[in-house]
Amino acid sequence: MSTSAPRAYLDYNATAPLRPEARAAVVAAMDVVGNPSSVHAEGRAARRLVEDARQAIAALVGADAAQVTFTAGATEANNLALAPCLADRLLVSAIEHPSVLAGGRFPADRVTQIPVTSDGVLDLAALERQLSEATAAGERVLLALMLANNETGVIQPVAEAAARVHASGGLVHVDAVQAPGRVPVDLTELGADLLTLSAHKIGGPKGAGALIRRAGLDVHPLIMGGGQERGLRAGTENVPAIAGFGAAAVAAAAGRAAAADRMASWRDRFEAGLRQTTPAVRIFGAGVARLPNTTLFSVAGLRAETAVIAFDLEGVALSSGSACSSGKVQPSHVLAAMEPGFAAGALRVSIGAESTEAELEKGLDAWRTVSRSLGRVQRGIAA
Ligand code: PMP
Repeated sequence: MSTSAPRAYLDYNATAPLRPEARAAVVAAMDVVGNPSSVHAEGRAARRLVEDARQAIAALVGADAAQVTFTAGATEANNLALAPCLADRLLVSAIEHPSVLAGGRFPADRVTQIPVTSDGVLDLAALERQLSEATAAGERVLLALMLANNETGVIQPVAEAAARVHASGGLVHVDAVQAPGRVPVDLTELGADLLTLSAHKIGGPKGAGALIRRAGLDVHPLIMGGGQERGLRAGTENVPAIAGFGAAAVAAAAGRAAAADRMASWRDRFEAGLRQTTPAVRIFGAGVARLPNTTLFSVAGLRAETAVIAFDLEGVALSSGSACSSGKVQPSHVLAAMEPGFAAGALRVSIGAESTEAELEKGLDAWRTVSRSLGRVQRGIAA
């Protein structure tokens, strides 16, 4: 029998492993036979699972259950949120996830991008200028600003931006997909009118998400049909995925403070190891507030797609920027927004509370191998 060495999974921002609590909830829900819309006992049992999960998602972000709409993931929740019934113009930060950058249901000529600084933080002065222009044109704006960037981990000044947008009479949508279990998320403190979450980024199953709305704020449904989700999202609910999402939310909230400390100390040790191996390494957003679990780094001449394969062969799973753009050899729009003309590739290591010292050591060992061959290539020696 061949024994293969354990792999190191350092790609939590792409998707996190299923938490045991979430797995148990999914499996249990698969045996609940009823349709949550049915009034009989079987239906009510399924309804209970959905409503318990709704309560857990609401609690995760300091909202009430009635404010939560379940969707088939954050991509759908973002599309549901970006509704022209809410505003005349959509402002999006240049580093949003593609599901926000696409503008939802806004026509392209009513979407304006707001630049970020070289650290990857929203340029608040540029936002102010756009708000003044919109006010002068008599337009109401909806700003879409993520809480933490999926590639850099850089935390955005959401509350500050929201205060300015609200003062101009506009609304704010926050893609908070990468935040729960890592940093606190509170709808009211953020000043969010709409907020998106995804189950599989917090240890729940793939294909479930939620849009949380400020009380009293209505959006037009994206999927029409039956009256599920208070008329906001038709279709029989994915009860097992929703139950798993709820269980993951409870676990993520309960473990957050301890997990954040642990991840930050692993992350710092990993970054110290990177600097020791390659003193010229660049760590993006290192000087500003970041998630405790994410490191995006680069050295001159790095070809990220090749490096990802080299890491994979060494038994290490990581990503070149965002998973959604990998497979396509394209420069990251996030790095391009931070540094126009940035040509080298970058690698993203993202960890979770269950990550181990051995996994990070394996990641560093693989980097030593990859960066050695990079050095040879740069010196003109065949790798
Ligand atoms: N927003 C952000 C910030 C993300 O990182 C992702 C996943 N890459 C999404 C939205 C989309 O989430 P989902 O996979 O649930 O559609």
